[in-house]
Amino acid sequence: MKWESVIGLELHVQLATRSKIFSGAANRFGESPNTLACAVDLGLPGVLPVANEEVIRMAVMFGLAVDASIAGQSVFARKNYFYPDLPKGYQISQYELPIVSAGRVQIQVDGTTREIGITRAHLEEDAGKSVHEGFTGSTGIDLNRAGAPLIEIVSEPDLRSAGEAVALMKKIHALVRYLEISDGNMQEGSFRCDANVSIRPAGESGLGTRTETKNINSFRFVEQAINYEIDRQIGLVEAGQEVIQETRLFDPDRNETRPMRGKEEANDYRYFPDPDLPPVVIDNDYIESVRRQLPELPEQKQQRFMETYGLSEYDSSYLVANRETADYYEAAVVAAPEQPKLVANTVMGVLSASLNRENLDIKDSKVSADKVGNLVIRIADGTISNKIGKQVFESLWEGGGDVDDIIEKQGLKQVTDSSEIGRLVDEVIAGNEAQVQQYRNAAPEKRGKMIGYFVGQVMKKSKGKANPKQVNLLLAEKLEK
Ligand code: ADP
Ligand code: MG
Repeated sequence: MKWESVIGLELHVQLATRSKIFSGAANRFGESPNTLACAVDLGLPGVLPVANEEVIRMAVMFGLAVDASIAGQSVFARKNYFYPDLPKGYQISQYELPIVSAGRVQIQVDGTTREIGITRAHLEEDAGKSVHEGFTGSTGIDLNRAGAPLIEIVSEPDLRSAGEAVALMKKIHALVRYLEISDGNMQEGSFRCDANVSIRPAGESGLGTRTETKNINSFRFVEQAINYEIDRQIGLVEAGQEVIQETRLFDPDRNETRPMRGKEEANDYRYFPDPDLPPVVIDNDYIESVRRQLPELPEQKQQRFMETYGLSEYDSSYLVANRETADYYEAAVVAAPEQPKLVANTVMGVLSASLNRENLDIKDSKVSADKVGNLVIRIADGTISNKIGKQVFESLWEGGGDVDDIIEKQGLKQVTDSSEIGRLVDEVIAGNEAQVQQYRNAAPEKRGKMIGYFVGQVMKKSKGKANPKQVNLLLAEKLEK
């Protein structure tokens, strides 16, 4: 039987506010344990939560960016459960009336565009953390994260492969970073994914029993966990067994998911509206004022890059995939306004290779955008060849400095003097008698390909500095004789 996989994601995105969602305690990562939890975060008797307005603004912004409806009235609800990292015994979340619902985003996978529904996005507080490291026979509890603001984004079960799920996750990740509502830092847990997976016979429309793999914090792990689940579920069903609805955990060391607990139903949580918090009321003026704050979003930016800079769909989608890369690119184009395509090649080529090699973010690049622009200008005006351009880039990367200085000091100027090039061509012809004979005996239509060998030799002799066009012309001329 042919199986189809069905996937829906829940993304927990920590909002980059200064203070927590219902208290004035600072919302920061990496501080000493339990230094950022105030009485409200601890749920001490007599305290009252107050909603942070910035959190509302960020949620509305997200909703607008995914073309969703913004609720005129949304309600905070208590989700009751016991866990050591949840001192109040309930988490404040939104249930029946979330702030954002019915949105959509587009993803591109293998050249096809698909629209994925966003069921809802609701606000909630994060829980604290259990700390195992450094404890034996006991567990530490760090409540710094208790009350940190989260937006939970829930997709429709519209995804059909692990690849599509990763594309959606990357799309939302880029979006929250463009909107500057989250730092999206996955290592620090600011962006986590629960993957719901089921299978069904291909062509059927009903949904199969799903499992939910919790708290996956990298794109690669999401892909691995989903593929593992798909294979596991197909294996079970084909062996005549049933998939059990349950919550599972992904173990990256063993590349497998394992059961964590039976899946709870919503009514296990005894949700009810939080009597301490009034409903969130949002009017149209407010929504419009937030709409005016929306920055240019990835798709719009991509469109503009294609129109303004004449870039291909591939180049532009690469460059807009994160905001820093797009900004860097545009800053480099300012320095080389005539050469948008060459700038794109440099950013996507040598620059990104160097960043990858040293595992650096583009904001920590050792070569600034304006130097990339200067370098491109020198390639475009023929001062140096493309190949030497790479060498200059490496010098900039390793030792800083100025493009023209490096070209001057290292003697990298392209040789365009035809008598100089002619001398090298003569040397190569004299030193390769057999190949020259072969060339001269070959049919004219075959010679085009054969000339590459001689070009390579001349370029080598010139240490890459000879102008390749001139080398080609002179060689063709002299080999004829
Ligand atoms: P919860 O997990 O909190 O119970 P929901 O029931 O609303 O919440 O489902 C959450 C996620 O599970 C959504 O992303 C939804 O698309 C996805 N989902 C629901 N049913 C299935 C299914 N049969 N197969 C795959 N994904 C599913
Ligand atoms: Mg869930």
